[in-house]
Amino acid sequence: MRQERIGWASGILFDTGTLRLLFDPTLGRMLGEDWRVFITHAHSDHTYGFSTRALKYSTEETRRIYEALRERQAKNCHSVRIGDTIRIDDCEVTALNAGHMMGSCQFKVVTPNFTAIYTGDINCVDTLTTQAAERDSCDYLVVEGTYGHPSYLFPKRSTIYADIVRWTMTEIKDGKIPTFQVYSSGKPQDVVRLFNVYTKIPVICSPAIARANSVHTENGVKLDYLDSSTAEGKRALRSGGCVYITSAATDHPRRNASRAVTTGWAIRQAFRNRASFPLSSHADYSQLIQFVKTVRPKKAYVYTGYTDILSTQIERKLSIRAGPLPVVAQTKLVDFYRVG
Ligand SMILES: [Zn+2]
Repeated sequence: MRQERIGWASGILFDTGTLRLLFDPTLGRMLGEDWRVFITHAHSDHTYGFSTRALKYSTEETRRIYEALRERQAKNCHSVRIGDTIRIDDCEVTALNAGHMMGSCQFKVVTPNFTAIYTGDINCVDTLTTQAAERDSCDYLVVEGTYGHPSYLFPKRSTIYADIVRWTMTEIKDGKIPTFQVYSSGKPQDVVRLFNVYTKIPVICSPAIARANSVHTENGVKLDYLDSSTAEGKRALRSGGCVYITSAATDHPRRNASRAVTTGWAIRQAFRNRASFPLSSHADYSQLIQFVKTVRPKKAYVYTGYTDILSTQIERKLSIRAGPLPVVAQTKLVDFYRVG
């Protein structure tokens, strides 16, 4: 039996001593059919596992959004619902809501010797399309630290929504087409819903976003929008009085576009020639601290973003042992994955 380990091995690795579980691997095609990988959500930096031959576990929504964006089918997949527990050998793995985007989940693993949670990306407040991340107890917590710096404190979401609507109305009055640049899935659907709920402004979406939108509508999130590649969408963009949402930086109506970004980085960063709003799909610093406080693990491992700073803050403020997620395999990676 190997030593139990939690760490980074081109993905988040929980090695129970008898079983290696890999979450959000970045290995691409290297993993064979005998591997089991877990995919937390459909953002492209978390979905490399879908292109491996391994047995993949994700929510149905995550796989469907991935397939809609890539326009191809993922194979050898097993769907889990939020709240479902699956048994693998002597371990149990449960999917918990992560609140980050449709279908996003955390994974909790119960082994004979320890319990651990990998959060993936989390958001701890409700949005117009998702509910706040669940909190469950565990011995070891692997938590994201994207905005784990004390300067990242987001305003109330309703305040940001109001700011976005106000700016959009002003730009439209000036004859412009407000154009929001966002990822293809998650945030854009929240922005579409925002305009649907609070305004009557027609919403036009680029084709990739429209494909992700359709998965949302199939799963009960009502979105009114036009695809910019359709005749109706093109006509609406020509006549103006609408808002355009796209995932490509260079894609905007040639004339009359006034551009905006929605990102948590807007708290500290200015964006040239663009309006910016701190609307994020991630937890801010205070949400992360509160999350760890509630979970109260024996040890927290922080991966991505402000790993050192958030670890120090968790130790100081909560008296919980914390540190950046250790790297367990970086060199000789191929050898590492070939052995057992
Ligand atoms: Zn994400």
